[in-house]
Amino acid sequence: LKINIAIDGPAGAGKSTIARLVAKELSYIYVDTGAMYRAVTWHMLKAGIKPESAAEVLRHAQAMEIELIPGADGQKVLVDGRDVTPYIRSLEVSGMVSQYAQIEGLRKHLVALQQQMAARKGVVMDGRDIGTTVLPNAELKIFMTASVKERALRRFKELGDAQGVTLEQLEKDISERDRLDAGREISPLRCADDAIVLDTTHMDIPQVVDTIVSYCKT
Ligand code: C5P
Repeated sequence: LKINIAIDGPAGAGKSTIARLVAKELSYIYVDTGAMYRAVTWHMLKAGIKPESAAEVLRHAQAMEIELIPGADGQKVLVDGRDVTPYIRSLEVSGMVSQYAQIEGLRKHLVALQQQMAARKGVVMDGRDIGTTVLPNAELKIFMTASVKERALRRFKELGDAQGVTLEQLEKDISERDRLDAGREISPLRCADDAIVLDTTHMDIPQVVDTIVSYCKT
């Protein structure tokens, strides 16, 4: 019998890496909701639509087709059929995404899409509001955290030297995103009452995956 698994937590806690591996292990579908907010942000930056223009953002978002395609080397994100995966993790998008993510109408729109994706169960979904808002009835909810330092270090290793960013800058970016994500009025980052909290600061990837998979078997 398939279940839905909600994984929430702050930026850089390793949610997407873990969620993808858990999905693979269970032959479930992985849905990266952050990628959806990022794809919208990428589109708005390209179209020159500011987060202050909420109605305009919503109008464009509703006209966008966002597809998440699972693949061997991770998930691809298509916007209107175009592969935007390489662009949505840029510093430019990361720096703006939390501002677009505060728009109530946009959240409602994306939450409805996410709920459709999970309707048939067998989904591992990661984000900020999955256990609280998107899938309040998910059979398993995990809230993943790690210290800011550890999260910045993980991002730093992931990005490599390519983007010329320092560890200090990443620490600042992550703290700022935490502040915006936890402080916004609509669906702030919160641990659901019935979520299991996993602090992964001192855990490696296989340990976290095994822990979550073991919860599915009980
Ligand atoms: O998970 P990721 O870091 O890719 O998410 C990017 C941003 O998208 C978050 O910082 C947050 O502002 C927003 N987001 C959200 N709700 C979600 C997933 C992401 O607000 N469910």
